[in-house]
This record gives sequence, structure tokens and C-alpha cells, in this order.
Amino acid sequence: MSFGTKIDICVPCFVPTQCAKCSGKGNMKLIPNPDPNLQIAVVMHQGRFDLRAESFLCMDCREITDADKNDYIFSGFWPARATTSISYLFCEELFAMWYHLRHKSPLNSEKMFINTIEEISKESGRSPIVNDPLFSRAFKEWELCRLNIKVKIKNMSTVSCPPCGKSPVMGSSDGNVKLKRHASAGKVLNPQNERESIQEEALRFGDLVIKSDKDVANFRNRIYTKIKKTKKKEMCGGSAFKAVKVDSCKRTKSDETGLLLSVCRHGIELGAINMHEGESMTYTLFLQKLVFGFNCKFFCSDFICRYEKFVRKVAIAFPEYQQMTRKMKGILPRMHAKAHHWPCQILYNPHWQKVAGLIVGEEHEQVFSKLSLYGYVTKHMSKANRMDLLSAAILYWNWGKIERMPSILSKRLKRASKCVAVYNDNLASLLNSNQCNIEDLPEILIELKTKALANLGS
Ligand SMILES: [Zn+2]
Ligand SMILES: [Zn+2]
Ligand SMILES: [Zn+2]
Repeated sequence: MSFGTKIDICVPCFVPTQCAKCSGKGNMKLIPNPDPNLQIAVVMHQGRFDLRAESFLCMDCREITDADKNDYIFSGFWPARATTSISYLFCEELFAMWYHLRHKSPLNSEKMFINTIEEISKESGRSPIVNDPLFSRAFKEWELCRLNIKVKIKNMSTVSCPPCGKSPVMGSSDGNVKLKRHASAGKVLNPQNERESIQEEALRFGDLVIKSDKDVANFRNRIYTKIKKTKKKEMCGGSAFKAVKVDSCKRTKSDETGLLLSVCRHGIELGAINMHEGESMTYTLFLQKLVFGFNCKFFCSDFICRYEKFVRKVAIAFPEYQQMTRKMKGILPRMHAKAHHWPCQILYNPHWQKVAGLIVGEEHEQVFSKLSLYGYVTKHMSKANRMDLLSAAILYWNWGKIERMPSILSKRLKRASKCVAVYNDNLASLLNSNQCNIEDLPEILIELKTKALANLGS
């Protein structure tokens, strides 16, 4: 057989067990649809195949039934359109491959993946054309369907951490400016050419992961009604913190300027918001309010000393935040703390807080190391596509992390048990060299904190 010869092969589907007409069981046969014009383009990881539509023949009563979209979906083929007549099908395994590939290696684009399938088809002498918009739309529908199965049927957690349960110890928040989006992306040069479908694209994930821009903007505007905006740089010790501004400048070239997110001590993402200007304290406040709703005990931020001052002002102007400031304790990430004035290193040291354990406060960095890679593709996307891809990326991260959690936790426990012995020895030799007892330590800590507070006040 030479390449290009057309033979009557139909889409390989599961055969119904029972005939709909005579109710005979186990005697159904898969046959190509009698109408030779009913062709279906089937796209799989081996490329595109132009096959005949399928029918089922009952060997008892000779009744022929045409397959419908449910038969195809049941057999692992996802229709490109939700219409009764099927002309384009995508193999679900192909979608599963693209789903994992785009998250394992975020630098790959959908266009590149489709081109790869086209090349495989071409090499085998088959039609190389794969319709990009159909692939894109069908993949989105399939992804949303999978999400609903995971969340609504399997009850999988999305932005909550199973080991933390109902009260995570910490919410660690920081902004990632690599996840921006160009203001010109997804727009045409001439506004008259703009297609309505693009303008009104709906969010598939809603605010499940990334909170609504409207809610964030309303929240910030409310704060600004009583708190004065200022672009003044805040300093601590010798360092100036760019992110520490009550207000920030608008970036003209970018619409979304980055993503601000909060993670628990296990690196599970708890919530995220878009930034539309530089990082500002009102964005951080929105996230703190969010993680306070999850009963977090500690709030970790790179500039907690300046931020706490701002939150105290907010709590005076808006008494509903007084409980949040009273119940949540601010801490500094271990590495960032080194850039702060020495009193901050004492007052906000996570290792000197009860129940904080071995919290480092840098847990968000591991999420960023992966998420930043998406910045190469998100900056050229439309608003809705960027939100959906980042939401999917965060869920992919969370689900992967939860799956690995048993081994991560057992490794952490082993490491912590080893540390206890080492730290006990270190402590004993330190106490010995400074000629004091373990009972003196709480008093020394109180003394240090008093001195630190006095120094901050001066
Ligand atoms: Zn029959
Ligand atoms: Zn956790
Ligand atoms: Zn400081």
C-alpha cells in the first residue's frame, strides 16, 4: 500500500454492549459509517488521520446505529465542537500529553506543539494540517472538564494545604514581576478589527486561584479613602525596599505587572492576585486579609517592619482589621532579614517564635522558581488566557506537591530529628561559653526584644 491510499477505516471506538432496537446483548459490531462522505479528522500523538465516521451493526436484527459524540468521548476522543455532526476529534491522550508538557516545560508554546503533530503527519504522508483555534478551544474545554471532575467529584483540594488543615501556621507573601503581560498583547492595531469573541473572553477558572481584579481594585480604593497615598521609599537599616510603598507607579507598557501570591510553610499556594502597577502595601494587605481568613498565625513578608507600621494605621482607620493585626504575628524571611536593621532581625525572627518551628519564610521562592518560567509565554497572551494558564499552573504545582507530600514530610521529620541533636550540642557549648543556663534564655530574649524596640523607637 502506498502513502495516500484511502481505505475505509473508522474511528476506533468502544462498541455498545446492547442493541437499542432489539435489546440483544454482546452482538454489536463496529463498522464504517455507510455514508462515505462522513469523514472525521482525528488528531492523535501519531499525527492527523482522516477516518470514516463509525456506526454499530447489530448482528441479530441488522440495525445500524450511528455513533454520537458520547460514544466518541467514552472512547477517549474529544470533539472539537459540541455539535451533533462530528468532523474533528482530538485524542484525549494527546491533550494529556500537552497538559503535562506545558507545565513540566513552560517555555513550550501551543503553536510549537501543534507544529510538531503536523510534522509527524507530514513524515507519514498524511494531511499535515491541524486547526489551531479548534485545538485551542477543545483543549480548554477538556481541561475545564478535568478540573470539574477533580474538584467537584473527587473533592481534591485546590488552594488549601492538607497537612496544614484548617489553620496553616504561616502565609508567606511576595510579588513576582516576571509574570507580567504586555498592554498590547491580544489586541489588534485597528480597534475596528477587534473580534467580539476576543473582547469578551470569559475566565474558565473564575477566581478559584487568582482573585478578581475588580475585588482587589475596590478593596484598595476603599483603603485609599482614609489612608494617604504616598510613593515615598521606605528604608530599614541601610536598605531601601522598592516594594514598600503605600502607592505605586503605573507601568504604561504592561497591563498586569506581575503576580502576588501567598504560600503556606509546605509551599502550597493559598491565594494570588494580579498587580497592575508596582508592588504596593495595599496589595499585600489584600493577601494578608485573605490568609487571615484561613486562620494563619504568622504573616511573612520581605518588608514586614515597614508593613506592620502601615497596617497599624489601617487598623485605626478601619477597626474591622484590628482583630487581624492582634491575632497575626509578622515574621521576616530568614535570608531577607539580613538586609534589615538588627532590631528587625530580633523582633521578626521566625526561629524565635513559638509554634513557628523550622519556618524559613522563603517558601514562596520555590513556587516562583517554577512560575517565573511561564512569564515567557504569558506576556504575549490575552488577559483571560494568561489568568487561565497561571491558574492551571498553580493548581498543577499544588497537586504535584500534595502528591509528593508524604515523602517530603518524612524527609523533613528525619532532617529535623537530626537537627535536634546537633542544635542541642551547639546550645550546650554556647551556654557553657557564655556562662548561663537554659532557664535564662526567655529572660535574655525579653531583654533583647526590649532593646530592639527601644532602638526602633529612637
Ligand atoms: Zn438488534
Ligand atoms: Zn501547608
Ligand atoms: Zn526592618
